[in-house]
Amino acid sequence: MGARPDAPLIGVLALQGGFAAHERALRCLGARVRQVRVPGDLEGLEGLVIPGGESTTMTLGIEREGLAQPLRQLVASGVRVLGSCAGLIMLDREHLGLMDIRAERNAFGRQIRSFETDLQLDGLEGGPLRAIFIRAPWIAQAGPAVQVLASVDGHPVAAREGEILAVAFHAELTDDLRLHRWLLKDGSLAGAAASNG
Ligand code: GLN
Repeated sequence: MGARPDAPLIGVLALQGGFAAHERALRCLGARVRQVRVPGDLEGLEGLVIPGGESTTMTLGIEREGLAQPLRQLVASGVRVLGSCAGLIMLDREHLGLMDIRAERNAFGRQIRSFETDLQLDGLEGGPLRAIFIRAPWIAQAGPAVQVLASVDGHPVAAREGEILAVAFHAELTDDLRLHRWLLKDGSLAGAAASNG
């Protein structure tokens, strides 16, 4: 099933980690999908996913390919971004600096604290989302422009800043694709009124 030629073109950072499941999710929704490995792959993208994986390895890949600045430019141009798990870490102040948050890595503990739960995100229509946490981070600090959308045990695990949505869980491992729909500008979330469109 090919995407329509006018379908939105979404990039999935594919240096490392769980990018394939995001690609499947986006294709399922009719998007055109491009794996992003080098700066040239960012050309013309209308949205971007930063997947889960291992944030140290991903950071090294971004440095090796010279992707940090081009990624910042893409985001500054206003495209939507979904960061999931290690993707949330990559968005924080100490990594790409695209969100005014500080992520705490492996915050729930290591392997034993992988878990699933039903999570209601503020403003997400359709009820709670099944959220799969795997050696997940949480948001230890967030600046005033950041809107926390959900917490677990009092720790923020989903947040939005403008057109960037960061979740500590894996949004691509269930059949519930509402967050990917949001990336495609098809669906609502709290804070939408604060964005440009
Ligand atoms: N613990 C990983 C890290 O710190 C993130 C885990 C994940 O993406 N599933 O990079």
